[in-house]
Amino acid sequence: MKPKVLIPQRWRDPEIYREAIDILNSIADVRYISEERFDEQLAEAEGMVGYGVGEEILRKAPKLKVVARYGVGYDDCDVEALTRYKVYLVHTPRVLSDAVADLALTLILACNRKIVKADKYVRERWAKEASGYSEYGTDLKGKTVGIIGLGRIGYEVAKRCVKGFDMKVIYYDIRRNKKAERELGAGYNSLEEVMRNSDFVSIHVPLTPQTRRLIREEHLRLMKKTAYLINTARGAVIDQKALVKVLKEKSIAGAGLDVFEEEPVPLNDPLLSLENVVLTPHIGSLTREARKTMALCNAESIIAVLKGNIPPPNVIPEQRGMIFRK
Ligand code: NAD
Repeated sequence: MKPKVLIPQRWRDPEIYREAIDILNSIADVRYISEERFDEQLAEAEGMVGYGVGEEILRKAPKLKVVARYGVGYDDCDVEALTRYKVYLVHTPRVLSDAVADLALTLILACNRKIVKADKYVRERWAKEASGYSEYGTDLKGKTVGIIGLGRIGYEVAKRCVKGFDMKVIYYDIRRNKKAERELGAGYNSLEEVMRNSDFVSIHVPLTPQTRRLIREEHLRLMKKTAYLINTARGAVIDQKALVKVLKEKSIAGAGLDVFEEEPVPLNDPLLSLENVVLTPHIGSLTREARKTMALCNAESIIAVLKGNIPPPNVIPEQRGMIFRK
């Protein structure tokens, strides 16, 4: 009998997922998960693509060998519990870096040139007003982008800013990125210096106990009045209440946000009433290319575990080198 692998309903879209499903079907019995039948399918599952996996799921899944997180952050999964249950956690690093970096640049450009306001103006007011539109942006050439977390995605953002827009890059990270220093002239700075000296601050750290609320009111207050904060990493890296406060006071120029402390953002969230923000619904990796490759990446890692080729590719760093046998 083929091992059972649980797959989210949205993987039924053949345009994005067919190749990954074909690979999985070659050795596994693929079951699409619907919420009502989730629990009953867990007992037999040997692999799954899932979010937020912890003790509650693991207890009901005695045969589970591998959980594939469809994405690169796995802050919603309980790594300690997965490791204790000897279940591999794999994710999809690298293959979505271009997509997320493109979105960070989209937010930089949209904030700087006030694209959302301009679009609204054309639809609602342009034909009625003689004065014309005069919300100035700035030239990006020569401006400084500050990257918080110069890893895979941060590097791609820095590269686009330097090579595409002639900007300067400074960064803060717990590790020096010598490649970016050499190739992009990225200057290593303290967190405070990056906040103080950047025209655009772009966040790319993972959400960990150390980075939760890494950016607090005192950091936001260091930013230039003309600077923008861009976040495509995780909402909880920033103290969102403090961000709303500085945005209301206009002590920074604005923010471009793809991620939030609470998702979906509640309709009464004060962020939604601000004009100096551009908001997107967590779409960093939402390109056809990225999502297709992410699915393939998950499928290959699951197959590796089911065939006994362990540890599998793209296992999370915390489990690297671990050999789980069942
Ligand atoms: P990465 O591991 O390559 O880079 C993260 C960088 O942050 C590393 O250089 C690391 O040294 C640094 N870092 C870690 N802890 C730090 C700390 N305490 N202080 C300073 N720097 C620290 O990861 P990546 O592939 O670039 O992804 C980054 C994050 O982007 C993911 O963890 C995920 O949360 C987020 N993400 C969001 C979307 C989206 O849809 N918006 C999509 C993909 C990833």
